[in-house]
Amino acid sequence: MSVKDDSKVNVEAADLPSTGRRKLIKMMLAAGPTLSLLGTNQQAIAQDAAEKLPITDPVANALGYVEDATTVDAAKYPAFKQGDICKDCLLYTDPSAEEWGPCSLFQNRLVAANGWCVSFAKRPA
Ligand code: SF4
Repeated sequence: MSVKDDSKVNVEAADLPSTGRRKLIKMMLAAGPTLSLLGTNQQAIAQDAAEKLPITDPVANALGYVEDATTVDAAKYPAFKQGDICKDCLLYTDPSAEEWGPCSLFQNRLVAANGWCVSFAKRPA
């Protein structure tokens, strides 16, 4: 190997850190849109969690969920007691929510404060 070849090798070796930085910057730029999408996805999940639980939801139906507890079929759901409403349920995670509040049973989708389902669990006073 000649001296010139050695210096070329040395110059290339000296370039490695800067090449590494360039690669890192390129990777960050390429990942930027992906990271943005992840952020958007998290926002979408948060928005989904704040959506009202559709009355047609199959799980809600299976659990006898109604938006108005006065319409509960007491013969079908003997556990129901007059006055039991979602707002007084342990799973209604924001008791300060007046009309619609998150229910942990339904991934924090919003249920009617005056609603009810068979999973009702009275919040201790
Ligand atoms: Fe309402 Fe409780 Fe049933 Fe959720 S678990 S829908 S808050 S009664």
